[in-house]
Amino acid sequence: MDNNSGILILGAGISGLGAAYALRSRGESPVILEKDDTYGGLCGSFTIDGFTFDRFVHLSFARDERVLKIFNASAGKVITHIPNPFNLYHGKWIKHPAQNNLYPLDADEKKRIIADFLSRPQITEIEAVENYEQWLRLQFGDYFAEHFPMVYTRKYWMCEAKELETRWVGQRIYQPSVEEVIRGSESAETPVTYYAKEMRYPETDGFRHFFSLLTKGADIRLKKHVIRIDMVSKTVETSDGMVYSYGRLISTLPLNLYPSLMNEMPDGVKEAALKLKATSGYHISVALKTKNIPPYLWWYIYDEEILAARVYSPSLKSSKNAPEGCSSLQMEVYCEKDEYTEQELLDRTVGKLVELKIIDRNDILFTHLGFEPYANVVFDKKIYDSRAMVRDYLQSVGIETIGRFGEWDYLWSDQSLLSGMRVVDE
Ligand SMILES: Cc1cc2nc3c(=O)[nH]c(=O)nc-3n(C[C@H](O)[C@H](O)[C@H](O)COP(=O)(O)OP(=O)(O)OC[C@H]3O[C@@H](n4cnc5c(N)ncnc54)[C@H](O)[C@@H]3O)c2cc1C
Repeated sequence: MDNNSGILILGAGISGLGAAYALRSRGESPVILEKDDTYGGLCGSFTIDGFTFDRFVHLSFARDERVLKIFNASAGKVITHIPNPFNLYHGKWIKHPAQNNLYPLDADEKKRIIADFLSRPQITEIEAVENYEQWLRLQFGDYFAEHFPMVYTRKYWMCEAKELETRWVGQRIYQPSVEEVIRGSESAETPVTYYAKEMRYPETDGFRHFFSLLTKGADIRLKKHVIRIDMVSKTVETSDGMVYSYGRLISTLPLNLYPSLMNEMPDGVKEAALKLKATSGYHISVALKTKNIPPYLWWYIYDEEILAARVYSPSLKSSKNAPEGCSSLQMEVYCEKDEYTEQELLDRTVGKLVELKIIDRNDILFTHLGFEPYANVVFDKKIYDSRAMVRDYLQSVGIETIGRFGEWDYLWSDQSLLSGMRVVDE
C-alpha cells in the first residue's frame, strides 16, 4: 500500500494537471495517477523523427486571464492564426462555412440549396425543435442539411443527426442570413465568419507546451492504470497491483467507466452511467518530405467514402513541427477501435488524398496511427439527466469529478483547465 493519505488525482490530462497546480499553490502535495506513459491526455503531443503531432487538431482560443497567464508562461513564443478553414466536397474546395460560401458549386446545386433555404419553415421557438436534424433542416433547408451537416454528423458524431439534441450547438455553427447565402453563392469574396477570431499555438514542442508550467513540481505517477476505487476503505488500485489510500479523491476519468471501477453502485446510477455515450477515433498522422500540401490550416471532408472527417496540418500550425523543407498532415477518423483494419484506415484516408492528387505518394516519409478511446461526449437526449445522476452520486460518496469527461461536457482545453483549477474554490 502506497502510504499517501492526502489528495489523489486520477488522470494527468490538462484538467488533472490544473487541479494539482492549483492545490500545490495552496501548499498541498497531490499525487496524480496516469495510465499512459506520458502526461497531457487528449491535449498531449508526440514527436517522431523530427515531426511533432498533437492528439487531434488542438489550437487555443482561450480568453480567460488565468489560462492565458499559464499558457504564455509555458510556451515561449506563440503563433497566432486567423482561422480560415475550408471544406472538401465532391472534389471542390469551399470556404468555411459552406452555407454562405456556395460559389464553387455547380449552378444547379446552388439553385437547389438556395430554393430550400428560402422556403424553409421559420423557427419561432428553439425549445420546440426536437432534435439536431430538425434544427439543421430549419436552419439551412433540406438539401444543404442532407448533403453537408447531416453527412458530417455521421462522420464526426458517429450517429444520425436525429439522435442528437441541440443545446450544445451554441455559436459553434454559423447561422447565415439570406443576404449572406446569396452573396456567397455569387462571389468568392466573402468575409471570414468562423466563431473564433484568432487561434494560438506554441512555436515549439506541440500544443502541450502551453501547459508545461503545470508539470513543474507535479508528482505524476505514469503507467498507473486505475482499475478499482473503494470508497469504504478510501483506496484506489492500479493494474500493477499498487493500492493508494486517499483523504480526498479528484477524478478526471470518464463518468461511464465507474460501473467497472466501483464494487457497489446503485442500479439506477449504473444504468445512467452506461447510457452516457462518447465518440472515439483515430488520428492518422502523415509526414511528407516536401511542402506540397493544401494551404489550409484545417479542412472538413463531407464525402463518406473518405473516412476522415477533418484534416489539418501540424506544420502549418507551426513550421517547427516539421524538419526544414518538410510538411505534415493529420486526419481524424471517428469509429470504434478495430472497426477498420490499419490498411483500410490508411487506404480510405491517405490513399484517397493521393487518388485526388491532394498529396503525392512519393512524398510520404511515414504514417502513424493513434487511437483515442474518448474524444467528444455525445449530446443525445439522455445526457443531461444521466450525467447529473452519476455526478451527484459520485459527489455523495466523496469522488469529485472534473474535466471534459468528469463533467461530461463539450469543454475546450481552457475550460478543462479551469474545471480542474476550481477544486480549490470548494
Ligand atoms: C477532436 C478533438 C479536438 C479538440 N480540439 C481542441 C482545440 O482545438 N482547442 C481546445 O482548446 N480544445 C480542443 N479539444 C478539447 C481538449 O482536448 C479537452 O478539453 C481536454 O484535452 C480535456 O482534458 P481532460 O484532462 O479533461 O481529459 P483527458 O485529456 O481525457 O485526460 C484524462 C486523463 O485520464 C487518463 N485516464 C483515463 N482512464 C484512466 C485510468 N483508468 N487510470 C489512470 N488514468 C486514466 C487519460 O489517459 C488522460 O490522460 C479537442 C478535443 C477533441 C476530442
